[in-house]
Amino acid sequence: MHRYSKWLSLFSLLLCFITSTAQQVKEPRIDEKWIKEVEPFRIAGNFYFVGTQDLGCYLITTPNGHVLINTGVASSFQTITKNISKLGFKPTDVKILLCSQAHYDHLGAMAAIKKMSGAKLYIEEHDAQVVRDGGTSDYDMSMYGKMFEPIEPDGLLHDGSVVSIGGMNITVLHHPGHTKGSCSFSFTVHDSAKSYKVLIANMPTVIVECKLHEVKTYPNITDDYKKTFKSLKKQKFDLWFAAHNSQCHINEKHLLGGTYNPEAFRDDKGFRKEVADLEIAFMKQL
Ligand SMILES: [Zn+2]
Repeated sequence: MHRYSKWLSLFSLLLCFITSTAQQVKEPRIDEKWIKEVEPFRIAGNFYFVGTQDLGCYLITTPNGHVLINTGVASSFQTITKNISKLGFKPTDVKILLCSQAHYDHLGAMAAIKKMSGAKLYIEEHDAQVVRDGGTSDYDMSMYGKMFEPIEPDGLLHDGSVVSIGGMNITVLHHPGHTKGSCSFSFTVHDSAKSYKVLIANMPTVIVECKLHEVKTYPNITDDYKKTFKSLKKQKFDLWFAAHNSQCHINEKHLLGGTYNPEAFRDDKGFRKEVADLEIAFMKQL
């Protein structure tokens, strides 16, 4: 009896611990467009859109397993996995997980997708700590506490790292500022007619409301943003995408372009304009 009650109290303690950790995760704000479902579609070759109305989640398929870039918020787990299935692929065949930036609107469902698929998560080294602690060490949003389920990355990425699987090589471009480890991804896909160089850009939106030099939790923030703008302006690509639809208008381009039309995403001018506008906003906060 004594032994039994000891186990029981240990069990309830464990349950209490699990519940309290689960309760601690709280997303500060959910935009309706972030969770609104849209039909997934093939963008170009083995590159697909599996996100929501505003959040860019991308699938790259290969014979050796797939790569998923970004997951949306925690509750989008169902939407993203359903979208992958709708395209005829198995969510359990996702082998590599990547993220544009360690914010809860891009990796909220990452822990659940990782658990479901057993995929490996690779994170740029400067975002690794934030990923490990669920956002509590985020330079701008630490007051919200844990915003997503903490994850231990399986490997760290750096500027110029190449993630390879099944004949695909994805180059990592470290574009810090929005988060310390924000990344863009560059790779080439092919269909029967053409090859396309793709850029999934992490757009350098300034999130702090104070002047940048006042951000004590990120002393080199100004230089990081400058480095990112410089690098983005140098990028050459055929098709470009972003972490938010509001930045690259992927859903609108798809609706205008029709069922399968990679050319609909050829928009160099739109990219340059978006970067220029963000740079003006950045200059105002110097
Ligand atoms: Zn963000």
